[in-house]
Amino acid sequence: MRTLWRNWAGDQRCAPAILEEPAGEPELIECVRRASEAGGSLRVVGSGHSFTDIACTDGHMLRLRRMSRVLDADPATGLVQVQPGITLHELGKELAVRGLALENQGDIDAQTLAGAVSTATHGTGASFRNLSAQVAALRLVAADGSIVDVSEDSDRELLRAARVGLGALGVIASITLRCLPIFTLHRVDRPRPLDETLAGLDALVEGNDHFEFFVFPYSRTAITRATERSDRSPEPENPRRRYIEETVLENRLLELCCRVGRRVPALVPPINRGISRLVRESELIERSHRVYATRRDVRFTEMEYAIPRAAGPAAVERVLEMVERRRLPVGFPLEVRFVAADDSHLSPSHGRDTCYVAVHMFRGMEFESYFRGVEAIMRDYGGRPHWGKRHYQSAAGLTELYPEWERFQSVRRRLDPRGLFRNDYIDRVLGPIGAAA
Ligand SMILES: Cc1cc2nc3c(=O)[nH]c(=O)nc-3n(C[C@H](O)[C@H](O)[C@H](O)COP(=O)(O)OP(=O)(O)OC[C@H]3O[C@@H](n4cnc5c(N)ncnc54)[C@H](O)[C@@H]3O)c2cc1C
Repeated sequence: MRTLWRNWAGDQRCAPAILEEPAGEPELIECVRRASEAGGSLRVVGSGHSFTDIACTDGHMLRLRRMSRVLDADPATGLVQVQPGITLHELGKELAVRGLALENQGDIDAQTLAGAVSTATHGTGASFRNLSAQVAALRLVAADGSIVDVSEDSDRELLRAARVGLGALGVIASITLRCLPIFTLHRVDRPRPLDETLAGLDALVEGNDHFEFFVFPYSRTAITRATERSDRSPEPENPRRRYIEETVLENRLLELCCRVGRRVPALVPPINRGISRLVRESELIERSHRVYATRRDVRFTEMEYAIPRAAGPAAVERVLEMVERRRLPVGFPLEVRFVAADDSHLSPSHGRDTCYVAVHMFRGMEFESYFRGVEAIMRDYGGRPHWGKRHYQSAAGLTELYPEWERFQSVRRRLDPRGLFRNDYIDRVLGPIGAAA
């Protein structure tokens, strides 16, 4: 009987004919060889935290949760070699005991390292690039089962392709990350008027190591989060206070409000204004891996676009105006973050300092008209979609957005000439193998 697989949001499903969990590299190579000889297709799945069908397959699926060890760590250079299936949560703890930390992280840590790297998962901070940019070397199992070791020294061009590979170049068997000595962060959450936040955005983004803000449609309050490296000693949060803030207010209350809004859409605007008024200033001083990630219990679906940083304020205003004009029942805030340019072929922040604008819709609610409206706005700014989040683009349009598209395709043809690592999503966003030749 086939296993039914579904993603975190519960809205992407598939029934792989074979689901295997290799325990190490030799078994992994065997799995790839067998899938290749059978002539079908193979996808690796991480922890299923993408909102698209990027990991789905009805063919051969590999899950690498048994490959989740730290293989080597050198505190002197900060280079750490890790197996691909480790979650960012586990990795944070493993690094901390070795006196190390990731340079930056996104807002949850449930993803696997390989899954997060492969879609260019990012955090926020004007001078910080996305997680994939911290990859110094990768070990890939290519479609013929051969091992391809790629590093900054051996083949920089291949590394620029493989860092953000969407699982289309091969199976990552290990990753060498550039880490930092362990550090402490001081985070301050504070509500501010939206107009003031947008007008002073450059100063806020440049003046803090990490800056982001959330804004609920129908409200003019920005819930800002500014985080700085700190020399102060960590001050672990009172567990009761953490429970009230994270579990009760940020999750249970939000879930309740979303449910009410789903049942009575007309109540969404006053609910959003009410939640925004409830937000109070708060701070946290803790080790970095305990600060970056937050708890997300409420299930939703999401789209996120990467646009040039300077376009951020105008794009945010246009999305809010569109929601209000069309009276869309959007009970989730926009999330706005900032990332430095990098050079991976398919990184959404390739070659430009970036503002990421993310939009969400509560599970079970119609999202397409909202997301398509947002996508139309983002197209005006040359927006590039997050590979792990919903979008409606295909290879024909995406090729225009990535100056090094053809270089990526040439690596893909070399490593996977027959299309072993294809699925419907890969066909849609990258085109069939050979199509771009
Ligand atoms: C609640 C929530 C919060 C999120 N927050 C953020 C955020 O702050 N910032 C951000 O940028 N994104 C965020 N995301 C998106 C998420 O980080 C990405 O979708 C990420 O790719 C998910 O990782 P995963 O381990 O679940 O991988 P999956 O979604 O399972 O897979 C993603 C891709 O990685 C490939 N892959 C996995 N393992 C391997 C391997 N060993 N070799 C080759 N390819 C592999 C898969 O084939 C697939 O193409 C969030 C998602 C959710 C649900």
